[in-house]
Amino acid sequence: MPLLEVRNLHVCVEGREILHGLDLTVNAGEVHAIMGPNGSGKSTLSHVITGKPGYQITAGRILFKGEDLLALGPDQRAAKGIFLAFQYPVEIPGVTTMNFLRTALNAQRRARGQSGYSTPHFLKRARTVAKQLNIPQSMLKRGVNVGFSGGEKKRNEILQMALFEPVLCILDEIDSGLDIDALRIVAEGINAMRSPSRSMIVITHYQRLLNYVVPDVVHVMSKGRVVKSGDKQLALELEASGYAQFEDAA
Ligand code: ADP
Ligand code: MG
Ligand code: MG
Repeated sequence: MPLLEVRNLHVCVEGREILHGLDLTVNAGEVHAIMGPNGSGKSTLSHVITGKPGYQITAGRILFKGEDLLALGPDQRAAKGIFLAFQYPVEIPGVTTMNFLRTALNAQRRARGQSGYSTPHFLKRARTVAKQLNIPQSMLKRGVNVGFSGGEKKRNEILQMALFEPVLCILDEIDSGLDIDALRIVAEGINAMRSPSRSMIVITHYQRLLNYVVPDVVHVMSKGRVVKSGDKQLALELEASGYAQFEDAA
């Protein structure tokens, strides 16, 4: 059984259809890249999978481990191990990264029927994971994303993702605005999380990230549909030929 099955998904925002019959199948352990021009519906898809309000699903279905995902609320989906790393991480002054992560993680653990981590237990785990991801301890004591560089914000997202131990990670343009060194560090964090029991959907406009996070499957989205799928070679072809060819076909 696939981990995630999206079938003939039609989605409207404010009365306008944005996704027009999208199909996508992700098996356990696979890393899928979704590429496509701005406005093709990539972020919409990630929001609909995680259950963000404001989207009307007018047709189609999404199954997660064979279960109807659309029947579940966002918290229930998070509890099942679906994690979305944001394109634009928010700043929260006055709340340390450590406290933010502990609160978020414990909420998720309780939703899963697990007990929350005690502060010492959480600190130990956060420090271990931060070390694995090359995140300086000092970052954990600072306000959430306050004064963080673009690279630090993205690394913080990866830290949060690692602590959550998700089954399905969705990374929406995690590479945007990163210089090459920051990109490499973020990519190493993503690669460290690859496992046969974890799937990833890596949304990106550019091929560059995929030099570091090598996907099993590459999809091209255009105008609210997946219009082409292939292996990692497809990303290289796109880099050479651009998206214009798909704009007409879609
Ligand atoms: P991508 O992530 O591929 O750039 P999006 O999913 O952000 O694409 O957007 C797809 C289309 O949906 C765009 O035309 C965008 O303007 C529209 N759209 C997305 N979110 C909203 C919204 N909240 N309200 C109105 N239109 C939206
Ligand atoms: Mg966009
Ligand atoms: Mg987007």
